[in-house]
This record gives sequence, C-alpha cells and structure tokens, in this order.
Amino acid sequence: MKPIVVLGSGLAGYTLVRELRKLDRDAAITLVSRDSGDYYSKPMLSNALAQGKTAESLVITVAAEMAKQLNFTLLQHTEVLGIERERKQLQTSAGVIAYGRLVLALGADPIRLPLQGDASDAVVSVNDLADYAKFRAAIESTTRVAKQIAIIGAGLIGCEFANDLASAGYVVTVIDPTAYPLSGLMPEQAGQQLLAPLAELGVTWRFGAAVKAVNKSSSGYALTLTDDSILHADLVLSAVGLRPRIELARKAGLTVNRGIVVDAQLRSSDTDIFALGDCAEIEGRTLPYVLPIMHAARALARVFAGEDMRVEFPAMPVVVKTPAHPVAVVPVARDAPGAWQVMANGHGIKLGFVDTQNQLRGFALTGAYAAERSEMAKQLSTK
Ligand SMILES: Cc1cc2nc3c(=O)[nH]c(=O)nc-3n(C[C@H](O)[C@H](O)[C@H](O)COP(=O)(O)OP(=O)(O)OC[C@H]3O[C@@H](n4cnc5c(N)ncnc54)[C@H](O)[C@@H]3O)c2cc1C
Repeated sequence: MKPIVVLGSGLAGYTLVRELRKLDRDAAITLVSRDSGDYYSKPMLSNALAQGKTAESLVITVAAEMAKQLNFTLLQHTEVLGIERERKQLQTSAGVIAYGRLVLALGADPIRLPLQGDASDAVVSVNDLADYAKFRAAIESTTRVAKQIAIIGAGLIGCEFANDLASAGYVVTVIDPTAYPLSGLMPEQAGQQLLAPLAELGVTWRFGAAVKAVNKSSSGYALTLTDDSILHADLVLSAVGLRPRIELARKAGLTVNRGIVVDAQLRSSDTDIFALGDCAEIEGRTLPYVLPIMHAARALARVFAGEDMRVEFPAMPVVVKTPAHPVAVVPVARDAPGAWQVMANGHGIKLGFVDTQNQLRGFALTGAYAAERSEMAKQLSTK
C-alpha cells in the first residue's frame, strides 16, 4: 500500500502525524521537508532573543528522534518540486516518491515589500529556525553598543519582536503606515493601549509613514520613509505579513485562492490531496495560528481513519505575546454589522463587538483584561 505522504515538518505536519499515530499505529507515513525537520515551536521565535536563546536551543526534538517516536519515514532537506496527480507521485530533489494520500502542510512565505535602495536585500524576516539563526548572527555582527533595530510593520509579529528586542536592550523603532499598533486585528482604542507601555520599554513608534528605500550607510542602514524622513538602523526586520505557499498546488492544477482551497474535511479539489496549516484556506478562511492547526490536524486524522468528520472551530482568541501590555483578541470583519463597546477601562481596555441582535461577536482585551479571554470566549455567540 502506498504511504500517506505529508509535505512539511512544521506544526501542521507534525501535529497531523502525531494525531494519525494515535488512531493507527501501523499506517505507512512518509514526511518530506526541505528543512532539517527538527521539531520546534514557531511562536517562540518572537520572544526568544530576550531569553538569550540560540536557534539550536529552540529545537525541542531532533528530526531523527521524531521519526523514531512516531514511526515514519523521514526525508529531510528534500524539496518537493512538483505533484503528478495522475500517477500519484511527487518530483523531489531526491527523486520520485509515490503517495496514496498526500497532505500539503507547506506553511507560508513572509511578504517582501518592493523596497528601493542598495540594501533592500539586507532586510530580514523571521519565519523559521534558519531565519532566526541568521537574524541573531546579523545582530551579533554589528559592533555598536546600543544597537538600533528598525521593525517594518506594527502587526502581531512586529509588536511581539518590538517587545522582545526592547526588553533585551536594543533600541527599537517600529514603522507602520497605519495609525496605531495591531490595526488589522482590533480598533484604535484598543491598539493605542500598547503605545505607552512599549514606549516605556524603549520602543519608538513611527505611524503614518511607510518605508520606501533601504540604503547602506557608514554605520549600517539608512531607511527613507514616504514622508522623506531618514532613519538609521543597524538591522532592519520586516514583519508585514505572510502569504500561503500555494505554488505547488497551483502548478498541479488544484483549486487555489488566497490559500490552497479545502473543505471542512481538509480535502482539496483532488480527493486524495489534503491541506492544513498556514498554506490552507479552509472553507474560505486562512487561519495561520496554532489553535486552528491543532483542530484541523485532529479532524484530518479522523477523516483518514474513515470517520465522517468535519472540522469545527470554536472561538479562538489570538494572544499577542507583548508582556509589557498583553493582548487577546477575537477579531471581527471590518464590515461586520454592529459596534465596538467599552466594557471596562482602567487596567488596559476591555472592548466587546456587539452585533445588531445584541450578541457578542468579538472582543479585544488589553493589559490586565487579557487574562479574561477564556471567560469572554464562552460568552461569544458563534451562530
Ligand atoms: C514569529 C512568529 C510568531 C508566532 N506566534 C504565534 C502565536 O503566539 N500564537 C499562534 O497561534 N500563532 C503564532 N504564529 C503562527 C504559527 O506559528 C503558525 O501558524 C504555524 O507555526 C504554521 O505552521 P505550518 O506547519 O503551517 O507552517 P511551517 O511551520 O512554516 O511549516 C512549513 C513546512 O513546509 C516545508 N516546505 C515548504 N515548502 C516545501 C517544499 N516545496 N518541499 C518540501 N517542504 C516544504 C517547510 O520546510 C516547513 O517544514 C507565529 C508565527 C511567527 C512567524
């Protein structure tokens, strides 16, 4: 029997293999990854520096040990180049592999802004262990005592890095064309709560301007902003979002949109090919977070075990790891009918999004109120 082949050794790939093994000890499973396949927690990448972590120390279990524990065939450092759906086989950098069922857990690529300047290639982003190793090496190679780091983007990852780097003693500037932090997730009243606590840590905010160009300068880099001001930095970190890896699926003729389109059984437009994690678009939604991946992996394992299972997502608050001012949010679509209401104020802010039927549809909790996220999630109406 041809194996279940899982492409990708991130949280999605590994959680699925773990869930499959709980239900079937003997199924043949092959895991293919273009990286080392070492198991680590990606959310740790944005708060590892203040803890002095190296890329090696973030590895929880090395790939060979994972393969032994979970009894799968490991093909590490192997890039999948194409999917031949009719023959049910993959073209890889290590030759051809046959599959019975195929799971795409390919993750997402950091979006690269089209920046001008002779140092635009020097802008780094951190999306995996290898990126983190390069990022650390780049920071360590600068000789200045108070190292200056410019972060492009005040979204979740930008804010988390800002908090972490400022706590570790770096001089941080965050640049974003919007008006306040986390503007893609929550309303201004909530986002503004982060301004002072992070500024106290040493973060300088630059809103209302985007980065246009990055050039080499005598002491590092000079960033030109859209308001023509110039900012100097020893390192430039881009945190402007991720784009699902859909190219392999698109070339193979699978239906893709923003992500690889799958139904509630995680099945793509080919009945033997499935997708989950950051690369997938599940019933119209991309959900690039840990909790949805766990739910999807559990559901897919049960589909493979022959159950008529469909993934259902409960309310899943997004937790922003900014210890200077914690945040938990269940976002709502910008055009959702209803209004944000202040439910409490004083130790941060507690906002609820109430729809036209007076039902709670989302919330934004900052500061001390972030601890109430589980309680608030129970009150959410999902109908
Ligand atoms: C800095 C940071 C902080 C985060 N913090 C949080 C948080 O606090 N809470 C939260 O819920 N979420 C957080 N997230 C999001 C969360 O970590 C991701 O949603 C999740 O880890 C994605 O897992 P994945 O397996 O889908 O993708 P990935 O971990 O990216 O794995 C993709 C895998 O596919 C492999 N691959 C890709 N292309 C090929 C190919 N052609 N051939 C072979 N292999 C290939 C890659 O090598 C990799 O092994 C954070 C993300 C980042 C970047």
